[in-house]
Amino acid sequence: MKALYPGSFDPLTLGHLDLINRASALFGEVVVAVLKNPEKQPTFDCDTRINQIRAATQNIKRVEVAAFEGLTVDCAKVHNVDVILRGLRAMSDFEYELQIAHTNRSLEDTLETIFLVTETHYSFLSSSVVKEVARFGGEISHMVPELVAKDLKRLFN
Ligand code: ADP
Repeated sequence: MKALYPGSFDPLTLGHLDLINRASALFGEVVVAVLKNPEKQPTFDCDTRINQIRAATQNIKRVEVAAFEGLTVDCAKVHNVDVILRGLRAMSDFEYELQIAHTNRSLEDTLETIFLVTETHYSFLSSSVVKEVARFGGEISHMVPELVAKDLKRLFN
């Protein structure tokens, strides 16, 4: 089976990376789809986020990284995937994720959403928390891959 892991990844954290790693053991192929939202101004542009993910996943087999705009279900069709993969960190994620999963199912009922529960020691991680720590010069090497740490340091120094 082929899975689509869509998200903002602004930037990629070790929590995201852990999910990609574990998904690559479960699925024949994983497409990490980076959302390019013209309505929102991201911290890192889409190409930078794609580079960060490619660098961090270069040794993981059968992982593809691509940009997408618009509906996740349309991206799923383009890449011909069987399932959408999302991560759950806490109950607070659940309500939002459930809403998205139902919406996607109402748009394309052959597409399943599968959730992976985050590794406990990454459950506190989010892209925004990482950026907040980096902005004030805190240690981020245990939160993000090497290239992301470098990019964040360059951005906030
Ligand atoms: P979005 O804006 O689509 O929520 P994110 O980049 O914040 O994009 O998250 C993409 C997916 O990764 C979501 O399903 C989210 O729940 C999951 N995720 C985010 N942080 C972690 C983490 N630390 N561990 C596991 N999954 C995570």
